[in-house]
Amino acid sequence: MKYTRYIVLKTTIELEIQKFQDSIHRQSPYCAVHEVAPFVIRATPTGVRAGTQARLGVIALTHGNEVIGAPIVNHLIESLLAGSLSPGFEVQFALGNVSAARANQRYIENDLNRSFGLNSTENPETIRAREIETFFFDKCDIVLDLHQTIQPSLSPFFFAHYYSLKELAFLDSINPGLPVIVTLDDKLHGQKGETTNEFLKSQDKFCLTVELGQKGFFEESFKCGVEVAKNFIRAVGEPTERFDQLTLSGIKSRLLKLEVGYRVQDPGSRLHPGIVNLQEVNKGDEIGVSDRGPIVAPISGYILFPKYNSNLTIGQELFCLCREIQPGELSQQGNTGRYNIR
Ligand SMILES: [Zn+2]
Repeated sequence: MKYTRYIVLKTTIELEIQKFQDSIHRQSPYCAVHEVAPFVIRATPTGVRAGTQARLGVIALTHGNEVIGAPIVNHLIESLLAGSLSPGFEVQFALGNVSAARANQRYIENDLNRSFGLNSTENPETIRAREIETFFFDKCDIVLDLHQTIQPSLSPFFFAHYYSLKELAFLDSINPGLPVIVTLDDKLHGQKGETTNEFLKSQDKFCLTVELGQKGFFEESFKCGVEVAKNFIRAVGEPTERFDQLTLSGIKSRLLKLEVGYRVQDPGSRLHPGIVNLQEVNKGDEIGVSDRGPIVAPISGYILFPKYNSNLTIGQELFCLCREIQPGELSQQGNTGRYNIR
């Protein structure tokens, strides 16, 4: 799928944050909105008993400069108020790292998406992580986390931990045709705190991350995110028994399994310019340089999360590689995802 991102939405992050805040206390014949915590709101469709466990949560700005999630969340709130989206349950929405978004940064002091489960008041992000855990994650059974990539991407994609066929079947049923990256490993980033996916998995809940192209207010990313989120909300209301009968061979999504996480080895480690997400490489292809010589692709597959920050330190992730798999491979014993430190 070719992914264009030329049309830019006429908005700003400040406008979107304001719009989110303005939705607090709004009410229509179809839905009422109220605040649960700072930048966490709950939409209660008319007829749904308020205060019951919200079943579904949608979070944007977990990374501050991955801005497209904010207009997507605002669009969903409008759709609920207009009655064009009418789930039989409450939906919560959160803006993750608003301070970072205002500063056009991924985070301020600590990556929020590596701050869950730390239970610490050390910095703004660990404090916010605790707030999100208490007022958002604890209130939801299932969460959609809206992200964008740092570098361009040949297609938007899903990123999810594989831990049961039922979740994969659910994902498959809402997938508008995006590749699905699955990982079987926790802590693939090698840092202490957890990501949204990891934290919710530890709570026996399902979190789905969607990476909506390169960061920015691109219309194509917006449309794709709205489609995914609406499919997600509608599917959560449907009976899930049909997933119980599914087998892995019934999965239609293109599956890629995260196989390699390449860490920075020395101060000279860097990727060659122009490498994008989902770019295909063959084993042995030279994709960068280090003080010890060329960096070559350790396996054939597809590049994920290439990084070009000048301040990467030794041990930080430079890129990942994933490999196309058949769904059946997920059920093989001992076939765990491998996060290779190279
Ligand atoms: Zn992100």
